Amino acid sequence: MFRVSVEDYPPSPIKAAQEEIVSNSYFQLCSRFQIESLHIKSDQQTGLKAIIAIHNSRHGSALGGTRSMPYANETLAVNDVVQLAQGMSYKSAFADLTYGGGKAVLIQPEHIFDRNSYFAAYAELINSLNGKFITAVDVGTSIQDMDVLAQYSDYVLSTSKQRGDPSTSTAQGVLQAIKSALYQHLNQYELNGIHVAIQGLGKVGIKLAQLLYTEGAVLSVSDLNPELTQICADIFQARIIKPENLINTHCDVLAPCALGQVITRQTIASIQAKIICGAANNQLDNPESAEKLHNKGIFYVPDYVANAGGLIHVVTDSIDQRDRKITEIYSAVSDIYQRSKHSTLSPLAVANQIAEEKLSHQMHFRHTHDTRR
Ligand code: NAD
Repeated sequence: MFRVSVEDYPPSPIKAAQEEIVSNSYFQLCSRFQIESLHIKSDQQTGLKAIIAIHNSRHGSALGGTRSMPYANETLAVNDVVQLAQGMSYKSAFADLTYGGGKAVLIQPEHIFDRNSYFAAYAELINSLNGKFITAVDVGTSIQDMDVLAQYSDYVLSTSKQRGDPSTSTAQGVLQAIKSALYQHLNQYELNGIHVAIQGLGKVGIKLAQLLYTEGAVLSVSDLNPELTQICADIFQARIIKPENLINTHCDVLAPCALGQVITRQTIASIQAKIICGAANNQLDNPESAEKLHNKGIFYVPDYVANAGGLIHVVTDSIDQRDRKITEIYSAVSDIYQRSKHSTLSPLAVANQIAEEKLSHQMHFRHTHDTRR
């Protein structure tokens, strides 16, 4: 398995942005991101350092992936998990799913000596929440990891026996979002000849590259792992770009499919794309960046709308229902664009408003429902 350390990440805006926005007051963070509860477990024997943030479990169990990666410090990990948890609630509400939002972060130790014990220790934390939190695969975890975790916890989706890897569905959803954005913003009906720059060729990025290539798109790609970029160059005739230059690539669509906070005050100035639409969660360093993109005439498709395919994959009961909901991402993006066009709001502000409305509607419904029983 290819592993990266924090030092491998380019000295990029990612860290700079993180340093600008982080808070080390956990209560302040919880109040800012409206987090219901924060749970931690540290286990010296296995090296586990786990944090679970539950943003909202009022509409059902809070669902969110388990992210495993090295963090420069614990504060960055907590900042990451609370923002990701809020994003999961919006994603779920937006897609009309009856789940709340949560997220887990495992601060990756240098070595995991015993994977079974490591995930058994993590399962204890999940189990202590009695179903309030359900998890699935995310950055740095695999279906095999979920299989191990599922031996110790019932609150795991996306195992090899149950629904499998959601990444293909995520990539299909991003494809729908890109097509809709192209039509709305550039009046382009098809992908043929459209230049897409993909940042990150992991589980989602490489599948997105394949889907785009099949429909005739021209690709530029970057990843920290040179084997992955080479595969894309060989199979999809992609142009390889150095990681630090990908954001500035002259292209029609920039598709961030690596980590979050890549769209910052600094990077916005040099972005050449007309549309930003990718799988990564929390692509913006802060909500003001959405306004800046909007003022610059760049259509930023809110990440939690574009990447909802993975969540849809793990919660829907049939392939038909899954495919229908993934296709609906196309009309959701069109709706956001049109509402933004006819108002003073950026596409992100429009999407947040819709998500908040849906959340409060669900809350009202749940309240009414409960009091009648
Ligand atoms: P992954 O860990 O499989 O892949 C991430 C890839 O990004 C890796 O290959 C890594 O080397 C690369 N990368 C990291 N930093 C980079 C940089 N600065 N420049 C270029 N490449 C870089 O993760 P994934 O499952 O493909 O998910 C990608 C993103 O999409 C994440 O932000 C994740 O939260 C989000 N997402 C994933 C899913 C899913 O179904 N897997 C669903 C929703 C959202």
